Amino acid sequence: MEWEAVIGLEVHAQLNTKSKIFSGSATNYGAMPNTQICDIDIGLPGVLPVLNMEAVHKAITFGVAIGAQINDQSVFARKNYFYPDLPKGYQISQFELPIVGVGHLDITLEDGRSRRIGVTRAHLEEDAGKSLHEDFQGLSGIDLNRAGIPLLEIVSEPDIRTAKEAVAYLKTLHNLVRYINICDGNMQEGSFRCDANVSVRPKGQEKFGTRTETKNLNSFRFVERAINYEIERQIEVIESGGVIMQETRLFNADTNETKMMRSKEDANDYRYFPDPDLLPVRVTAEQIRQIKSTLPELPAEKQQRFVDDLHLSTDTATTLVSNKALADYFETGLKAAPEHGQLVANWVIGELLGALNKASLDITQCPIPAEHIGTLVARIIDKTISTKIAKTVFETMFNGEGTPDEIIEAKGLKQVTDTAEIEKMVDEIITQFPEQLADYRSGKDKLFGFFVGQAMKASKGKANPAQLNEILKTKLQN
Ligand code: ADP
Ligand code: MG
Repeated sequence: MEWEAVIGLEVHAQLNTKSKIFSGSATNYGAMPNTQICDIDIGLPGVLPVLNMEAVHKAITFGVAIGAQINDQSVFARKNYFYPDLPKGYQISQFELPIVGVGHLDITLEDGRSRRIGVTRAHLEEDAGKSLHEDFQGLSGIDLNRAGIPLLEIVSEPDIRTAKEAVAYLKTLHNLVRYINICDGNMQEGSFRCDANVSVRPKGQEKFGTRTETKNLNSFRFVERAINYEIERQIEVIESGGVIMQETRLFNADTNETKMMRSKEDANDYRYFPDPDLLPVRVTAEQIRQIKSTLPELPAEKQQRFVDDLHLSTDTATTLVSNKALADYFETGLKAAPEHGQLVANWVIGELLGALNKASLDITQCPIPAEHIGTLVARIIDKTISTKIAKTVFETMFNGEGTPDEIIEAKGLKQVTDTAEIEKMVDEIITQFPEQLADYRSGKDKLFGFFVGQAMKASKGKANPAQLNEILKTKLQN
């Protein structure tokens, strides 16, 4: 029998506000345990939460960016459960009325095909604290610094069919939240994490199978592996006559397996009810309009502009917009050679990313200012240097030794385009190798390359290659 997987993702994106969602405590990552907490975060009785409007603003920004319905009224609810790192005994979340309603995200797959994935909703909630099991002999510690950090939970429709599609969706979403500056996207620090809901059904069947939910996947690789493992496991269980239980599972990155953690609660187990301490959130049309008007150019729009206006290839445009810092770098560099987008892009994606990769740096740590890459391309275009020499200049720049013009000047790399000067060099080479000359003239055409090499060497690589070729061709003949 042929099987098909059905996948829906829940993403928790930590909103990058300065203070927590219901208190004024700081949200910096990595602070000493319990140094960024107040009465509200630790759930002392009688305290009152106060909503951080910046978190609301960021949630609306996300909704607008995915073309979603923004609900003019949304309600915070208490989701009741016990956990040592949740001192109140409930998490404040949104349930029946989330701030962001139905929207969608378009993803591009590896083969270039595009798919639209539905977003069911996105709601605001607070994060819980953390239990620390490693630092204490036989005891666990509780760090509540994370309690009350604002999260946007983004829930997809079960529209995804393969692990690869799931990763494409997550990468698109990850890129988007950073473009619109609502989340730093740091997956190691847990700022962007994913729960994967997976079920399988016989191909052609409409009804969904029972799903499992694998929690807190914090890398794209883990998401792909966990989903693939889960698909195979479920098929195996069903084919050997078993049934899939609705349950929550954990992924083990060492074994690439998922393991049952607990049988899954249904929503009614949480006894959700509207939080009486918080007023409904009202969003006006004016507010939405205002946020829409300040929205930056989104990745999909930028990609289209790169293709339409700068005539970049789709591949190049896709690579550039996959990282906002990279796209910004490219556009800054482009100013020095505005007519040569593809060439500037080639230098950025090829030479520069290669060198950064080798040095284990990312684009924000790039030792070459973007303007200088643009100038380098401009010097190739205006024939000051050849492409080959440009690579030398590039390496020198990467080592922090100045601007292209300074380097060309200091190292005397300027291309020789003076015909008389090149002719003189060629004459010298020809007299230097009389045997090769005779052989060439008697039909050994391959020796042309030899003469090009020798003449280029004599010019220290600075002769204009096209001119050199032309002059050699003429001189070797007579
Ligand atoms: P819960 O909080 O119980 O996990 P949510 O509504 O927040 O419920 O999220 C459910 C997620 O599971 C959504 O992403 C949805 O698309 C997905 N989903 C629902 N049914 C299935 C199914 N049968 N197979 C796979 N995914 C599913
Ligand atoms: Mg869930």
